[in-house]
Amino acid sequence: MKSAVVVGAGIWGVSLAWKLAELGWRVTVVEQHHPGHVRQASAGETRLIRAAHGTDEWYTRMAWTARTGWREIERRAGEELFIEAGLVWFARDADGWERASARTLAEAGIPHEMWEPERAGRMFPDFSADGVEFALWEPGAGVVRARRSVQVLAGLARAAGVEFVRARALPYPKPGMRGVVLDGGEVLAADRVVWASGAWMPEVFPEIGKLEVTKQDTFHFGVPAAWTAPRVPAWVDYDLSAYGHGDIDGTGMKATSDAEGEPYDPENGSRAVSASSERMSRAYLARRFPSLAAAPVVFTQVCQYISTPDGNWIIAEVDDGVWLLGGDSGHGFKHAPALADYMAAILSDKEEPEARFGLHDRTWARGLRTSGQTE
Ligand SMILES: Cc1cc2nc3c(=O)[nH]c(=O)nc-3n(C[C@H](O)[C@H](O)[C@H](O)COP(=O)(O)OP(=O)(O)OC[C@H]3O[C@@H](n4cnc5c(N)ncnc54)[C@H](O)[C@@H]3O)c2cc1C
Repeated sequence: MKSAVVVGAGIWGVSLAWKLAELGWRVTVVEQHHPGHVRQASAGETRLIRAAHGTDEWYTRMAWTARTGWREIERRAGEELFIEAGLVWFARDADGWERASARTLAEAGIPHEMWEPERAGRMFPDFSADGVEFALWEPGAGVVRARRSVQVLAGLARAAGVEFVRARALPYPKPGMRGVVLDGGEVLAADRVVWASGAWMPEVFPEIGKLEVTKQDTFHFGVPAAWTAPRVPAWVDYDLSAYGHGDIDGTGMKATSDAEGEPYDPENGSRAVSASSERMSRAYLARRFPSLAAAPVVFTQVCQYISTPDGNWIIAEVDDGVWLLGGDSGHGFKHAPALADYMAAILSDKEEPEARFGLHDRTWARGLRTSGQTE
């Protein structure tokens, strides 16, 4: 029986652990807190699932494949996690990112429609088409209950035989060692070690290059019942770096900036949102959904992006059998089920990771997240 140690019980770690266990591997997950703890990037109340990724066919197809994976997780767990509310992209440029996305979606055979701004407006109780040239509609997109999904997947993994150890894995011990040393001194050896350690990765592997960890404040606003999802879809204003969705589970309507925040320490940084972030969300509401500009804030969260220079993830073997799986760059949640399949094939020597995921120097670029304007 092959064995693996996975460091980190965020969505990437638990999805991979479950997948490997289902394939017959003996798997141990090492997590310093709890699966779904509020400091991890995966513990947001919600995350968007969308296939559009501009011209990038690889992520487009991976997101669409992952959608089937989410349905399978729901079936196995007996619980709804993915709310298929659809997603509207408000395109401000007639031939920009959204048009490129539509072409890629068409090539991949993924359902989508191009709408006049007025038609998009009919999806919302109140809407201003200010600056919108057209809308791109993804009917198969939506919102996933994120933190709950981590907990559910951890449960499925446990049921499949995965052992969870609450401990901190210490900085990578020594070359040639296929294992991790825990803060209590115990050594866990395995055929494969995967560091799915999110924003904590640079602590352990400082040499992996320029990764930026930034503070991201999210806001949910109290709204009338007419704004409830799935009647109100998810939405992204790519060129204005804003996104959100209708009220899910009574947590209010999410309306948040996607611009990158201040540098951030995921372990000790304050989890209090800032007044300037709230002002940004309200300014956006005033512009696009004017009746909500003064709505009360009912729920907030602070999370972190861990961004590589070009927004592509890191999937790299740093030593024999020792892998990094990170640098999610703020767009990794939706992909988790499909990424777990991909990673399991890599660990089983059946697939090579795409060259773009390596540890080479990268050219600065953005565009894979829901944000066309990042500062
Ligand atoms: C505000 C915000 C909005 C987002 N929106 C979207 C979206 O709409 N759609 C989307 O697809 N993605 C979105 N993302 C990105 C998504 O949340 C991340 O891609 C994903 O959660 C990354 O998961 P992870 O498992 O890599 O990391 P994490 O969830 O951070 O998990 C890493 C885990 O490793 C543990 N760990 C680290 N080091 C050690 C150690 N040495 N020993 C033991 N344990 C350790 C940590 O405690 C942590 O639990 C968003 C992110 C943010 C912040």
